[in-house]
Amino acid sequence: MKQGWLLPAVAISACLSGRATLPLQPAEQVEAPPEPAAEVEEPSPAEADLAELPPPLPPPDLAAPPAPPPAGAGVADPLDLLWGHRLELSAQGEPLITIGLMGGQREIAFRPRGPGRIALRGGSVVEVPAGVRLVVRVHDVRPARFAWSAVIAEEGSAGQNARARKGAIEALGVAARLRVTGAVYGIGGRVVDTRREQLAVEGDGSEAAARAAVEALRARGLVASLDQEVVERPAGTLELLGPGGAPLGVADTALTLEVEADSGFLVEGVENGLGAARAREDRSYKGRLLVTLDAGGGLTAVHGVPLEELLRGIVPSEMPASAPLEALKAQAVTARSNVMAQVGLRHLADPFMLCAEVHCQAYRGDGARTARTDEAVLATRGEALFGSDDRRLVDGVYSAMCGGYGEDNDTVWGEAPSPRLRGRPDLPPEEARRWAGGLAREPTLRAFLAAARGAYCRLPPARRDRFRWERRLDSSRLQELGEALGVGRIEALRVTSRGVSGRARTLRVEGERGTVELSPELRIRRALGDLPSAMFVIDREGSSLVLRGGGWGHGVGLCQWGAVGRAMTGQGYQEILRAYFAGAEVAKVY
Ligand SMILES: [Zn+2]
Ligand SMILES: [Zn+2]
Repeated sequence: MKQGWLLPAVAISACLSGRATLPLQPAEQVEAPPEPAAEVEEPSPAEADLAELPPPLPPPDLAAPPAPPPAGAGVADPLDLLWGHRLELSAQGEPLITIGLMGGQREIAFRPRGPGRIALRGGSVVEVPAGVRLVVRVHDVRPARFAWSAVIAEEGSAGQNARARKGAIEALGVAARLRVTGAVYGIGGRVVDTRREQLAVEGDGSEAAARAAVEALRARGLVASLDQEVVERPAGTLELLGPGGAPLGVADTALTLEVEADSGFLVEGVENGLGAARAREDRSYKGRLLVTLDAGGGLTAVHGVPLEELLRGIVPSEMPASAPLEALKAQAVTARSNVMAQVGLRHLADPFMLCAEVHCQAYRGDGARTARTDEAVLATRGEALFGSDDRRLVDGVYSAMCGGYGEDNDTVWGEAPSPRLRGRPDLPPEEARRWAGGLAREPTLRAFLAAARGAYCRLPPARRDRFRWERRLDSSRLQELGEALGVGRIEALRVTSRGVSGRARTLRVEGERGTVELSPELRIRRALGDLPSAMFVIDREGSSLVLRGGGWGHGVGLCQWGAVGRAMTGQGYQEILRAYFAGAEVAKVY
């Protein structure tokens, strides 16, 4: 995430789901396995817990499906589109997604790639020729105003709903209110329900009071975080300048560029936030460009993009274009479901729904597109994953390689169990039967790590050194990791509970000066030096501890290398998706 763009606390409630994915790197195109550092955008455990409070709301009444979101977003006030965080549908019924490209700027320069029209909010419409360099500046800025609060999560709150916890919190003498984020929509006769409940502590809305409340709650042993809600949107006067700085008009807080024949536009100097040295490059996009103010009052470029166009940019970032078409189609449907599930839950203090970084889904605009991945997106247009019994949208999560056995969502994220996100063997049926009882017992996990040769994510070109891996922690490393945890040199590591795939759910770290218990899995992986996954067993060898494990990533939902392997053995994308999402079916919603 970009410094100075988002206020840090925003990330706590609005951004992070703990589900950032490792892009699936093609084995033939990379020298080394992707470092787990690619997952640095994942939240700290406390944040993950908070962002993933169980969704305890009653199911919507299916007999009276909720009204579709308003169509014709183009004619409405652009600020409602930017700040509404609602799924907006085009006249064709296709969702329009807003993606933050860059923020916190004093000036933004762009060029339409065809003849364009710029609607100045509160002003006129300016016709601009193809290729002209245009600059936006801002003055008379009034930043957003926030209400601050402390929000409460509980470690391992899975299955316990916010209402029940509200009672428990109030019994401690703390006044809390339930806050709902997300929304419910009907789309194509199906239900998209992204609602989440949070417990917010009552206060006066000031940052100081909220910070004090967070400290007080933490002192009681509760997991609490600072949160902010926008109560007044930022405002300012945008100045549109043409060649030579010629003034073309002014806009109240926002302007919108539409380009003829969808030839798109180029934005200068978009930050590439993925590298250590933050490079800037010009990037082109198809769709609509909105320039407005972020909460801090800086200029922000926002891409208004139809979901299908967005997917044409995302899919090649997440799976190599050389993968079998059925695997690419499975990836496209999963990513589509994932984007739809994120809308309304992230970036609530930003004037857009999703960012263009790994945090949401890596998106670099037009540059990444390939004919094959475009084909996979087109072939599955409008298709998303829904529960076959409840017809509700499935959150399409995925990770690079499950190691032969997927994991339950509640084990990994400490959230309520989803019936669609159950860990299962990624093996042909006859071999899967042997492991039907799961791998939660360590002897079974050890046996599995030495077996599972038929796993779909083990088939070439998937890399065997990712399917099974080893990490040796020598005594100086044990010293270093233990000091970071405040327990002195680590003397023993014990996994005290495991999920269905054997992934560590809690880890006891015994050091010279104390013992700590770590959870959930991401915190465990980080504490042990960014392990590829939490599916591992521990052996002592002399003064070292050796971790032997399997898989790459959290293991929930679609296994990307497994999808490739299944497609190579002839499975179609629907069959592939049914293998990874229990009780789910593909439905076309537009
Ligand atoms: Zn994001
Ligand atoms: Zn797998």
